[in-house]
Amino acid sequence: MVFLKKGMQNNNVKRLQERLAHLGYDPGPADGIFGPKTEMAVLAYQEDHGLSVDGIVGGETWGSLFSYSMPELLSSLQHPPIYSQLTDIFGDFLLPGWQEQSLVRCDLSSMADALEHIYIGWLTPQDKAFDHRDWFGFICHKLVVPHFQKAFKMMVDRGVARKIKTWDGCFNVRYMRGASQWSTHSWGIAIDIDAQWNRFGQRDFAMAPEIAACFEEAGFIWGGRWNRPDAMHFQFCTLR
Ligand SMILES: [Zn+2]
Repeated sequence: MVFLKKGMQNNNVKRLQERLAHLGYDPGPADGIFGPKTEMAVLAYQEDHGLSVDGIVGGETWGSLFSYSMPELLSSLQHPPIYSQLTDIFGDFLLPGWQEQSLVRCDLSSMADALEHIYIGWLTPQDKAFDHRDWFGFICHKLVVPHFQKAFKMMVDRGVARKIKTWDGCFNVRYMRGASQWSTHSWGIAIDIDAQWNRFGQRDFAMAPEIAACFEEAGFIWGGRWNRPDAMHFQFCTLR
């Protein structure tokens, strides 16, 4: 749980300062030190937003600061953002309540006939990836639903959906493989397909070019093009 007040010094204070400055307040330099200027900015923000005006950043103030950026940017999400914008656009997945607010069902039921063969890669062909009895699809970030739907629709329309065998996950809070940065899966904006034939770092990967093309045309960035390939991986975010 977030708890920040004057005298504290840490990374969350830095994020607080950056966010306040982004919203037009003046917390002083983003140095991670909660001094009098930062406190003044917090007080002003709380006053403006009908919060308890105590200069202390707990869950309520933090949640207010970091949640309402979504509708602001909704209409501009035509292209994948850069990595450093992800928290601004998709929210902070570490915040309490973020999952309820941000994750939704990506409904693929109109394409069920063409996609029902896809199974969960770490299980067996009997474990259907998208068939949840009363709905058909998977869970992802609500802002990326139209892009995922577009990609799958293209596969179905082009008759190439059979080239996908397994689905290997979307939302999953974790670090990038071999790095200390958050994976784009943490925001529910990335998907892994046919993982066992397209391992991280595998250069002779087997991703069907027709499938990769559908994701790329729908706006996704394909890990198969990276210097160290991650060919199973498609994300709605450009390289950092
Ligand atoms: Zn991935």
